[in-house]
Amino acid sequence: MKIVLQNLTKIFPSRNKKANDEVIAVNNFDFEIPDGKLIGLLGPSGCGKSTTLYMISGLQKPTSGRIFFGDDDVTEVSTENRGIGLVFQNYALYPHLTVKQNILFPLQNLKGEDKMPKDKMLERAHEAARLVQIEELMERKPSELSGGQQQRVAIARALVKMPRVLLLDEPLSNLDARLRLQTREEIRRIQKETGITTVFVTHDQEEAMSISDMIVVMKTGIVQQIGAPQDVYDSPANLFVAKFLGTPPINVFEGVVKGEKLYIGESAVLDVKGAADQEVMVGVRPEGFVLDAKGALECKLSNVEVMGRDVSIVSTHPHSANPMIRSIIDADNKVDVNVGTVRFTLKAHKTFIFNKETEERIYFEVK
Ligand code: ATP
Repeated sequence: MKIVLQNLTKIFPSRNKKANDEVIAVNNFDFEIPDGKLIGLLGPSGCGKSTTLYMISGLQKPTSGRIFFGDDDVTEVSTENRGIGLVFQNYALYPHLTVKQNILFPLQNLKGEDKMPKDKMLERAHEAARLVQIEELMERKPSELSGGQQQRVAIARALVKMPRVLLLDEPLSNLDARLRLQTREEIRRIQKETGITTVFVTHDQEEAMSISDMIVVMKTGIVQQIGAPQDVYDSPANLFVAKFLGTPPINVFEGVVKGEKLYIGESAVLDVKGAADQEVMVGVRPEGFVLDAKGALECKLSNVEVMGRDVSIVSTHPHSANPMIRSIIDADNKVDVNVGTVRFTLKAHKTFIFNKETEERIYFEVK
């Protein structure tokens, strides 16, 4: 089921009429989520991810704009009648009920013509438990489960009504690092197996990048970029997106474009054909540096960290916007920490330039 968000806006009015401090939590969100895909809503705290999800779920009403599930306009439809499955960060299981009773709960509450016979409900509950691989835990109480298992129960409970849309709000936040990794792969598997259109909210870029078909990067209620994770990483629309994606993060320098050449300090570090003369911010991915004794970018060497396959070179430069520059190069390259300086050339497709004021991307020809 595709989900269409049409000029979706949510404004929380000011509590105090004089203060004029209304919050535009979501500003004109326009997007068609394709059927059967997993979409990661990504951005820093307060950017409007949860508010967007709550509007899709019906828990919050948009100030303006419309929401469609397929061709159905669901903007005025209540949460119960939208056909959604919701999973929150805190699993919110009923502590006095067993796993089986927790999963059955949404079915037992169906009314009218949706009401189900008991054997059908049990069949559905077992099917949902099978999907999340907790069939052997059906008689336990939530307190007898690990965090990861509790979250699987919560997912089974969301799936049991066979929702049209699955909505997950930071579902992995309460899990430890290992379980997070495992559970996110589980979510991906379940989503693929069921083919349910899924929206997943997280502030963790790595999490969103690893399981999403598409990511939506948001900042202060405004969508910054939408695309396949790799495409957004490879071609960020602005400096915010460039900085938000990637570990280690992108390295940022102050630079100038003059005569289709990019200068960092006095050194011409890259040809930027098509870019107009101006002051810019330069972003270089850690894998965008090439060690080169004749390279134009000279940095002061601080440290060399060998990490198996790769070497991480930590250095500084007077025009770097970050205290440290972190470049990742192949471990076959030998770097002597005692030499004091390192020289690099930059890979054009891993180097981005941005307007200094607007921070929007300035495109140049990459040969
Ligand atoms: P987090 O990752 O911290 O949950 P988020 O990206 O999900 O953040 P939202 O919870 O959607 O962000 O909040 C977006 C903005 O709307 C924030 O500035 C927040 O303070 C504000 N906001 C959210 N709910 C309300 C509310 N009920 N009343 C007033 N302002 C609100």
